[in-house]
Amino acid sequence: MGKNIVAIIGRPNVGKSTLLNRIIGERDAIVDPKSGVTRDRHYGTAEWNGKKFTVIDTGGYVPDSDDIFESAIREQAQIAIDEADVIIFLVDALSGVTPIDIEIAKILRQTRKKVILAVNKIDNEKLEILSSQFYELGLGDPFPISAMHGRKVGDFLDEVVKDFVESNEQEENKNQIKIAVVGQPNVGKSSFVNAVIGENRIIVTDIPGTTRDSIDTAFKYNDSEFILIDTAGLRKKSKIKESIEFYSAIRALKAIERCDVAVVMLDATCGLERQDLRIIGEAAELKKGIIIAVNKWDLVEKNSNTALEYEHALRERLKVFDYVPIIFISAKTKQRIFKVLDLAKIVYDERNKRIKTSELNKVLFPIVKETPPPAVSGKEIKIKYVTQVKTSPPVFAFFANFPDDIPEHYKRFLERKIRQHFGFIGVPLTIVFKKK
Ligand code: GDP
Ligand code: GDP
Repeated sequence: MGKNIVAIIGRPNVGKSTLLNRIIGERDAIVDPKSGVTRDRHYGTAEWNGKKFTVIDTGGYVPDSDDIFESAIREQAQIAIDEADVIIFLVDALSGVTPIDIEIAKILRQTRKKVILAVNKIDNEKLEILSSQFYELGLGDPFPISAMHGRKVGDFLDEVVKDFVESNEQEENKNQIKIAVVGQPNVGKSSFVNAVIGENRIIVTDIPGTTRDSIDTAFKYNDSEFILIDTAGLRKKSKIKESIEFYSAIRALKAIERCDVAVVMLDATCGLERQDLRIIGEAAELKKGIIIAVNKWDLVEKNSNTALEYEHALRERLKVFDYVPIIFISAKTKQRIFKVLDLAKIVYDERNKRIKTSELNKVLFPIVKETPPPAVSGKEIKIKYVTQVKTSPPVFAFFANFPDDIPEHYKRFLERKIRQHFGFIGVPLTIVFKKK
C-alpha cells in the first residue's frame, strides 16, 4: 500500500510554492542548506492530524516556452489525476476565474479522485467575498485560504487528509527487501530491472495481494527475498519534457515511500544533476536506505583511476549524503548488476541494526564528555545517556539536561561519531535530544 500523495496544480503565481512550503513547514531542516537541496523544493512530506502524506507542486515542472505551457498544465492535471490521491486545485482570488482555470476544471471534473478547490490570497475576512466567483468551476465549494499568512490553512488541511488512513510505519512482510529503482528518465532503470529479472540466477515469485495498478516484481536471490517496486515510464508518451519529469518525480516519490532501499540511478555520461540531488534528498527525508548506482559505465573511457576520480567528484557534490555508497554498473553488459542487490541487502540489514545501549554508551559517553555541546547563556549542557530507540529507520535518543539548546552542528558531530564506530552505511540516521 502506497502512502498518500497530494498534488498541487494551478497556474503560475497563484501561490502553489507558498502553499507547499506552508504545508511542509520548516520542521524538516535535516538537509544542509548549503547542499542546495532544500532550496527550490517541489515536494516534501507533511503530517496533519496524525496522518502522513507527501505533497508535490507541479509548479516546478512548468516549461519556459509560452506555446507549450498551457498544454503542459493540462497534461500535468491529467497526470495528477492518475497518480495522486488528492488534488489541490489552487486559484488566485485576486485575478478571478481565468480561461486556463476553466480548462483545468474541465479536466478535473472528469475524475472520481478527491479534488479540492482552494482559493488563495484571501488574506482577510473582507476578501472572502472573492471566493464565491469560483463556484462557476463546478468543483463544489471553494475553500478560501491564505497560503502566505496561513489563514484557514488548518481547516483546509483537515479536509485534505480527511479520508487518509493513519499511517502505520511498518508494512507487513518484513523479510522482503523492497527496492525502488529511481532516477531521471533514460538513465536505464527499466534496462536494469529487465537485466536483473532476465537472469536465471534469480527465481521470480508471485506476490500475494499485489495491488491493481502496480507491477512489482518479487524474486529470490542468495536466500533473500526481494521486491523491485515498479516505476514504469509514462504510458502515453508525452512530448513535453517537463511533463515527463513531473510524471517521473511523482512515480519516484510513490516508489520511495514504499521501499526499504532506494537505488538512485545516474547516467555515467551525465553525472549528478539537480534533480538527482532532489531524489536523494527525498529518500533521506523519508529515512530510506540509499544507494547510488552510476549506470552506463560501459560508455565511459576508463583508466585505472577513473572510478575513483568519478566517485571523488560525485562526493564533492553529495556533501551531507557522504554515507551513501556508490556503485558503477552497466545494465547493458550486466556488469555488477548483482552487486547492486548485494549492496541493497547490506544497507537493508544496516537499517535494521540495533546497537546495544551498553555498547553505545561505552563508545559515545567518553566522546560527549571530551567534546560536550557548547554552553548556552552560561548553562552547561550535559549529555547523560544515549539509547537507540528504534530500528528501520534507526533513531538515537540522547538524554540531556537542556535538550532544546543543543545546536544542529552538534547533532551532525554525533552522527559522524556514530557512523565512525557503528557503520550504518547508506542509512539516514535520526538523532533526538530528550530531557533527562
Ligand atoms: P506559484 O507560481 O503558484 O508557485 O506561486 P508562488 O508561491 O511563487 O506565489 C506567487 C506570488 O503570490 C508570490 O509573490 C507570493 O508571495 C504571492 N502569494 C502567495 N500566497 C499568497 C497569499 O496567500 N496572499 C497574498 N497576498 N499573496 C500570496
Ligand atoms: P529508463 O527511462 O530510466 O527506464 O531508461 P531505459 O532503461 O529505458 O534506458 C534508456 C536508454 O539507455 C535505452 O536506450 C537503453 O538501451 C540505454 N541503456 C540503459 N542502460 C544502459 C547501459 O548500461 N549502457 C548503455 N550503453 N546504454 C544503456
